[in-house]
This record gives sequence, C-alpha cells and structure tokens, in this order.
Amino acid sequence: MSAGETPGALPWQQSMSMELLQRRAQWPHAMLVTGPAGIGKRVLAQSLARALLCETPAADHSACGHCPGCGYAAAGQHPDLRIVEPIELDDDEVKVVEWIAVDRIRALIRWAEVTSHRGGAKVALIVPAERMNEAAANALLKTLEEPPAATYFMLVSHLPGRLPATIVSRCQRIVAPRPTHAQARAWLIGQAIAEPDAALAQAHNAPLRALALADSEYQAERSVWIRAFAAPAKLEVAGMGARIDAAPREQRKERLAGVIDWLLGWCTDLARVHAGGKPAENIGAEGTLQALARSVAPLALFRYHRRLLNQRALAAHPLSPRLVAEALMIEYRALFG
Ligand SMILES: [Zn+2]
Repeated sequence: MSAGETPGALPWQQSMSMELLQRRAQWPHAMLVTGPAGIGKRVLAQSLARALLCETPAADHSACGHCPGCGYAAAGQHPDLRIVEPIELDDDEVKVVEWIAVDRIRALIRWAEVTSHRGGAKVALIVPAERMNEAAANALLKTLEEPPAATYFMLVSHLPGRLPATIVSRCQRIVAPRPTHAQARAWLIGQAIAEPDAALAQAHNAPLRALALADSEYQAERSVWIRAFAAPAKLEVAGMGARIDAAPREQRKERLAGVIDWLLGWCTDLARVHAGGKPAENIGAEGTLQALARSVAPLALFRYHRRLLNQRALAAHPLSPRLVAEALMIEYRALFG
C-alpha cells in the first residue's frame, strides 16, 4: 500500500474513499451502497468498515493496516464487525439460501445493542440487503430509526428498488464508482486473467463479475451453448435440455438462469449486428452473428428478446428448468427462416 491509498479499496474506489474518509466525523449511522453487480460494492463497504475499526487511523482517517483492529478485520475475526449474508451453516456445510431471515437480523440487533468489544465503533454489513425478507427488513427498520451509539449499518445492494422505501429513506446513499474500461482491464490482468477484454465484454465491464465468470467450468458450459446458438439449423433441443438435467438438482435453476443470460447477450448482439453495429458481449463471434443476422426477422427477434426478459424474471421459480430451456431453444430455432 502506498501513501494516499485506502487499504482494501479497489483502484477505481480510491478517490471516493478518500473523500468519504475526510467527512468521517459526519458519517450517518446507516449507509446504502448501490451500483451494478460486480463492480466491488462489498469491497468498498468493507474498506470503509476497516477505516471505522482502525484503532490508530492515519491523519487522512484511512486505516493504518497494522493495529490490532486492522489485523482482526483483515483476518475476518473482528468482534465488532458483522457481515450478514444469505448464507447458512447446515451440518458444517455452507449453504446459499434465498432470504436473510428475521432471526438473523434479530441476532444482529442484539449484537448491536451490547457494548463494543474493543471500545470503538461497531459495523454491520448486510450483503445483499435486498435479500432480507419482509420480516427481517421490518426488524431492521426499528433499529435504523434509533441506532445504538457508535454503530454503523452498511447495506449493500445492486437492486435497491427491492428494498422497502422506509429502509432506503433512513440510509445515506453511496453510489459505488464504476471503473473505466482501462482500470477494469488493468485490474483483471493483475488477477492473472488471460483474456481481459473478452471477460469484460461478457461481464458488461464489471471486473469482479468478470473474475467470477472466468471459472473454467462455467466458461466450458457457456461455450457449448454459444456454439448451439451459432448454428440454429443444427440445434438439438433435447440434447441441450439434457445438459440442464446433467447438473445436480439444486444447481439446475442456476444453470437455466445462465442459459437465459447467454441467450439474452447473444440475441442483443444479433440485434446490434443487424442494425450495423458491433457485438458487445460476444466479441469473438462477429462473423457468425453477421451471417445469422441476415436470416432473422427483426420483429421476431425483438419479441423473443422480450420473452427472454420475462423468463429471466421467473427463472427463480420454474417448474422444470429443462422444459423451459427446451421451449426457449425451439423458439430460438424458429427465429431463422
Ligand atoms: Zn489500524
């Protein structure tokens, strides 16, 4: 770390972090960090939390990086820092759950009401905040109305519209900065990503999402589907549907959601190319997209795209992910005359 840098914050967050830290004394007790998925909102919130928990902060209020408070925070073991996520322990196994339940928020409130372990601030992160269920949000609301002394609540959300207006109105909004393409690219190269441009194209320039998508299994599965989209005349609907059922039961909805995302990106690129533009997401498939664009009817493509958006909104609750995927493949094939 060099002088004038906030420990833990990403390069594109540095100037905003420094500005926020300068106003440290006026920080509200509830903050809502918003912005698109995958740009590092949680990292920003965590770096602000570290500044709050530092016991010997620098003159610019940034965390010193070497006091006991910084050490515990960096190790994820600070007793005055709590992170609430839609994750539960089940027989020592970490399970992702759909909602942050009310008992989790009640436990957080009890923690907030006891005295700070290290005598300084207490910080609670709720990530992603829109995953609190209604009862959980209501329980939190009472505490946000009368927050305990020196306690900070940081809510992180890329879908703040799903939070109750009563919660949003009690938080000060921090819009997390987006990286420039050059910043995102440089950061990904630093993470040893071999093809940063292709990764960023897939992730709409959100570098943390690009890093997550760089997983080789995910990319291998994506390639199979993209190849199928690229040759609609040869598309084997049942064979592709079987790929959904090949995933473990609890991952099938997620795989369908992936397929819908890939189809959306592919069809959006098809529309772009049809209109004389360049693909944004499938940058390596321009030639194929151009060939396909010649045989697609724009109105049918538009309708199909809208259908995909509707299906994506329902993707968490399909009766059979495989049947949904097969129906989408049949309709996709029919787009080409
Ligand atoms: Zn420190």
